[in-house]
Amino acid sequence: QQAEWEKLKNEKSVSKDGKEVLLVANIGSPGDMEGVISNGAEGVGLYRTEFLFMGRDNFPSEDEQFDAYKAVLEGVKEGAPVVVRTLDIGGDKNLSYLKLPEEMNPFLGVRAIRLCFKEQDMFRTQLRALLRASVYGHLQIMFPMIATLGEFRKAKAMLEEEKAKLVSEGIKVSNDIEVGIMIEIPAAAIIADQFAKEVDFMSIGTNDLIQYSMAADRMNQDISYLYQPYNPAILRLVKNVIDAAHKEGKWAGMCGEMAGDQTAVPLLLGLGLDEFSMSASSVLKTRSLIAKLSSTEMAELAEKAINCATQEDVIATMDEYLK
Ligand code: PEP
Ligand code: MG
Repeated sequence: QQAEWEKLKNEKSVSKDGKEVLLVANIGSPGDMEGVISNGAEGVGLYRTEFLFMGRDNFPSEDEQFDAYKAVLEGVKEGAPVVVRTLDIGGDKNLSYLKLPEEMNPFLGVRAIRLCFKEQDMFRTQLRALLRASVYGHLQIMFPMIATLGEFRKAKAMLEEEKAKLVSEGIKVSNDIEVGIMIEIPAAAIIADQFAKEVDFMSIGTNDLIQYSMAADRMNQDISYLYQPYNPAILRLVKNVIDAAHKEGKWAGMCGEMAGDQTAVPLLLGLGLDEFSMSASSVLKTRSLIAKLSSTEMAELAEKAINCATQEDVIATMDEYLK
């Protein structure tokens, strides 16, 4: 099997009936790039930059960040897309050198983009490093935990301000940077049609989207039965995001665990997902799986699934279809 997968390393990701999708990798540091290449990923779909900030006792400087982002952009095949997510600190991720507020519900509190708005120097430094690195590849900047369009507009305006400053200093910045958001808050998934008019892309973070939709802590074993990727409610949110993106000519990706789940892939293909971001080690088996699937048949399956009443019904429907 491994040998069969290896043959697909330099191939595109295409379904049996010719539908092309992008299979990209989730990474946590430039050191992961070797695995991205050796596993035939077509780019990076999620670079979790917070790891650059964790396990140390001071902020990484703008230059340190620039080096890391440049290394990732240069680590993919020429022109391949790289989605860099801006800092997602807070929730369960802390920095020893940054005092976060004491909160009753950290996962509902000052996390990710919310923290970046409070710590603007930290955020602007990251944006500058990203902008400077942008000339070394095909950069796609992604803001995490966006709940409202106002937040997206504010983050984008800050990016534009930093860009203007750099340009006025004579520093080169790419004009082809795509700016998008993670969809991991139900409110954003529901009004994806409004977001789609303004963002360049949307990537669904199912790890958080499921947790917030089901009001079930993703780490709490006692209520793990509520963590339901195949719940029709989740599938409808996913479909809503993909359809909204396509209506505006934008692309929709997924970078939560679900995107690399071999059981979910047929359904996601059927829902029309354009980009699947997963751990690099899952890329080749997913490419092999997609090559065996018909996207039109999977669209029929997806249509049935979103009209099911329960996760159990969805799973039974999938079993039936894929037999
Ligand atoms: C997600 O929420 O699905 C996601 C990809 O982000 P993280 O797992 O880093 O919260
Ligand atoms: Mg998340």
